[in-house]
Amino acid sequence: MSDTRSIPKEADVVVIGAGIHGTATAYYLTHRNMNVVVCEKGRIAGEQSSRNWGFVRQQGRDPAEIPLMMEANGIWRGLERELNADLEWTVGGNMVVFRTGEERAMFERWMEHAKGAGLDSRIIDRSEVERIVPGTTLGELGAIYTASDGHAEPAKATPALARAAEGRGATFLENCAVFRVLTEGGHVSGVMTEHGEIRAPVVVLATGAWSSKMLSHLGLKFPQVWIKGSVGRTEPVAPISESAVWGGVAFRQRQDGSINFAVRSSDADLMMQTVLHGRHFFGVGKQHMRDFRIRFRRILFDTAMGHFSERALARELTRYRTLDPEPNHAVLAAALTDLKRAIPAVGEAATAKSWAGYIDMTPDLLPVIEAQENPRGLILATGFSGHGFGMGPIVGKLVAQIIAVGQPSLDLSAFRFSRFHDGTDLTAGTAV
Ligand SMILES: Cc1cc2nc3c(=O)[nH]c(=O)nc-3n(C[C@H](O)[C@H](O)[C@H](O)COP(=O)(O)OP(=O)(O)OC[C@H]3O[C@@H](n4cnc5c(N)ncnc54)[C@H](O)[C@@H]3O)c2cc1C
Repeated sequence: MSDTRSIPKEADVVVIGAGIHGTATAYYLTHRNMNVVVCEKGRIAGEQSSRNWGFVRQQGRDPAEIPLMMEANGIWRGLERELNADLEWTVGGNMVVFRTGEERAMFERWMEHAKGAGLDSRIIDRSEVERIVPGTTLGELGAIYTASDGHAEPAKATPALARAAEGRGATFLENCAVFRVLTEGGHVSGVMTEHGEIRAPVVVLATGAWSSKMLSHLGLKFPQVWIKGSVGRTEPVAPISESAVWGGVAFRQRQDGSINFAVRSSDADLMMQTVLHGRHFFGVGKQHMRDFRIRFRRILFDTAMGHFSERALARELTRYRTLDPEPNHAVLAAALTDLKRAIPAVGEAATAKSWAGYIDMTPDLLPVIEAQENPRGLILATGFSGHGFGMGPIVGKLVAQIIAVGQPSLDLSAFRFSRFHDGTDLTAGTAV
């Protein structure tokens, strides 16, 4: 990591945010011989990109995301070799065990998209569930399973991409918040960081949960809310399954035998953006009502003003260098009980570690990946709504294409920014 006492004065591209999307973008830009500087207010992958479950799935995706995830799957398969790094990449499949007949019917409908795309997803019965997770009590209503899906270790993936990008000439500045995107005559001209200005004709905004606030000061209304997901990890146990599994409880076994577990529901901690953008979320709120618990937290007050004042936002960005919310311990205790019921072989294993992360959610649960017209030179890669880890490498590759050749190799029209404001039905097409 570079010393922030002497930051570069200019770059071809400045990337704001060193989560998996900003970092992968920098990595692929170095393959285009571009001089790229990544500014991160905290540490590389400090927020969502190290806190997620690690599922890398094509299964259950919105139809618009399937081609991206199929290509991402191919990249992940060669990434350890390419980066010369251990990412704990495992092709063990992804399985959603149905909780209700309604859920089964939804995935049966989704299978049409899978078939159309040539994905290997299948609806399976309890005996196959038992073959994939021996000894499980889950699966009475069957499941959907995609054998070609995988999982990886979030704490390793983004740092490995950053090391590789640095090795190819990219500069990563940690503890370097960007307070403002600078513009001149409708075109991006650089960024103002807490350590001074960096001039650049292209800026990639990959700021995760902070994007709505950053964009509000450019006059762009980006509807986004924060949802808190809590995750637990057991002590190591004997091998159980290589598949990533979602039932009432979601889990994956890591290579040291420990199991990451979580529930599919989340805490909707109230924020100023909930008030500002709430109306855009009625659809998704209704669809996923039982998956959200609304909570008041102090952070609501601490981060309220950043939407309205750049000075307040600067304070928030340096106060919350790394969003590290308290996990919901009650929910995790219940999840561990559910895990033990689902897999009796987990036995007496205790929780060794727990954490939480704020997920950045859009109303249709789809990201924004697009070059903006106003200001020109601003590229958005944000709003990944709880499933962006698996997409990281392909998003980085596509954003680098947009910058270097002006055109991505895959259709990104579903991820355009204008959909929030042009009357598009924001709940249509949502899978999970
Ligand atoms: C509990 C949980 C479980 C999840 N499970 C999965 C899963 O199994 N599979 C999956 O695919 N996805 C999953 N996700 C979602 C996934 O983690 C995210 O979609 C993805 O990591 C988002 O990456 P990002 O780079 O867009 O954002 P982030 O990783 O949040 O990175 C954004 C970065 O920008 C920095 N930043 C913000 N503003 C500024 C600024 N002004 N100046 C400088 N830096 C700034 C932040 O500090 C942060 O480091 C999960 C997320 C959570 C929280």
